Amino acid sequence: MAVTIKSAKEIELMREAGRLLEIVHDEMGRMVKPGVSTMEINQCGERMIRKLGCVPNFLNYGGFPAAICVSVNEEVVHGVPRRDRILHEGDIVSLDAGLIYKGYHSDAARTHAVGKVSGEVQKLLDATRQSFFEGIKKARAGNHLHDISNAIDAYISSFGYGIVRDLVGHGIGTSLHEDPQIPNFRQKKKGMKLIPGMTLAVEPMINMGTWEVVWLEDEWTVISKDHKPSAHYENTILITEGEPEILTLHG
Ligand code: MG
Repeated sequence: MAVTIKSAKEIELMREAGRLLEIVHDEMGRMVKPGVSTMEINQCGERMIRKLGCVPNFLNYGGFPAAICVSVNEEVVHGVPRRDRILHEGDIVSLDAGLIYKGYHSDAARTHAVGKVSGEVQKLLDATRQSFFEGIKKARAGNHLHDISNAIDAYISSFGYGIVRDLVGHGIGTSLHEDPQIPNFRQKKKGMKLIPGMTLAVEPMINMGTWEVVWLEDEWTVISKDHKPSAHYENTILITEGEPEILTLHG
């Protein structure tokens, strides 16, 4: 799939897809508390996506059985929601969600603390979120794709955390996953030049320990190899001549 440059009209649709996804995330975020199951969060997210007149793009994507990826603690991404997976005080939960609005996709992820978490874990959440913002400081026309990767790596490496390498960010538009791929770790090549009208899902996945991950038996859930906590933060952004526009985060 080639890299696509969106027209002004397409950008309007991407903006709306992003704005609606933020509403879904806000709603799901309010549900995160001890005693709630990962399935309940999925159901809340799916209900909200449909109520907004959109379609959940993760549902049945490659066979994924739910609308929202709900990943707890050492689960990095693609956690499959379950009725018997209950959140406990001190857990962290990553919610990765996407939707389709009039044929255009948005994609965003947040990791939430369940009740109060340890200072060490909170630091991981804060650093993961901040690494996204460090990365997108470089996301502007004239720069290169891997300026984003290198900025995320430089920031995260100062903490000694592991940056997941098996999964990366991506272009997004009329498909959930378009080119280019956007690694979150240092690259030797510069990568392609960034052009206004590109829409990208930038999504650092950061492990407290090793960067290595393994896939569980369900063939979906990705966990850190050393079972230490992992955090994920993602937004869909638009490349402009100046600062990037974050389509899935406004307030
Ligand atoms: Mg994504």
